[in-house]
Amino acid sequence: MTSSLLLGLIGVGISASRTPRMHENEGAAHSIPTIYRTIDIAEPRLAEVGLEELLTAAIRLGFDGLNITHPFKQRFIDLLDDVDPVAARIGSVNTVVIDAAGKTTGHNTDVTGFAAGFRAGLHGAATEVVVQIGAGGAGRAVGFALAELGVGELIIADTDIDRAAGLATDIGTVTGSRVRARAIGLDELEGAAASAQGIVNATPVGMKAYPGTPVDTSVFGSDTWVADVVYFPLETQLLAEARAKGCRTLDGSGMAVNQAIDAFELFSSQKADPQRMRETFLSF
Ligand code: NAD
Repeated sequence: MTSSLLLGLIGVGISASRTPRMHENEGAAHSIPTIYRTIDIAEPRLAEVGLEELLTAAIRLGFDGLNITHPFKQRFIDLLDDVDPVAARIGSVNTVVIDAAGKTTGHNTDVTGFAAGFRAGLHGAATEVVVQIGAGGAGRAVGFALAELGVGELIIADTDIDRAAGLATDIGTVTGSRVRARAIGLDELEGAAASAQGIVNATPVGMKAYPGTPVDTSVFGSDTWVADVVYFPLETQLLAEARAKGCRTLDGSGMAVNQAIDAFELFSSQKADPQRMRETFLSF
């Protein structure tokens, strides 16, 4: 069994991340002393350091694993010795396991995390037609997770139509999935949302810096379900308006907690306790 864990999160502007505390608390609960450091590239002392140099340093210093976040998830994939099939398909990693010999393997627990959060929070929701808004970093993970969840038709909108179209094409190559994915322009969004069973927001709209809703919620019926990946704040305007209409909703904590649960298992080979991880996440 792992006797201790040295972990880190590489990203930009990550000082408020709740991920370090989730891993340190969970490690302690399993009697595995765990140190989890944020490695924020926005800090002046790291400004000149390349990703490859950081990874090499982490391996040499004996790190057991890393989480990778915005804006490095796609770039990091090329630096690794091995990449699991889910991460390879989506083209980004958020978790890197470093074994005792220094070999690195990339995973994407955003995909499995969104899927697990969806199964727990929107169990039994109809998924014949789903509209997804946002096809960036989080949106790519959400789109592949929705395909894995068995969505029939996935309609993707993004202010950058090429990004939405690229994601739709990539999702279409998933073998064994029944999903038909297509991109639409923002001018078609309300019409598509009006006839969809579910809506997923994977844009930053709803955060303090990006107020409002990404779609006009007056088109939702009371039987539309609505999921948001934003978790600062958990109660976005989109979810508040949807709930006021009687819609089932899922906030961004499902994805955030479950990506950490899956990463903890990859780092430690131990199962994390979902309730404890969630309580730690919400305790900030
Ligand atoms: P990103 O910049 O990579 O992607 C955002 C995408 O949304 C872009 O493609 C952009 O063009 C599009 N977009 C922005 N405004 C839009 C609008 N009004 N209509 C349509 N498209 C629009 O950002 P990201 O890393 O994907 O993060 C998005 C959000 O997801 C952030 O709030 C982030 O905090 C959150 N997030 C949550 C989790 C989680 O675990 N819950 C994980 C990752 C990211």
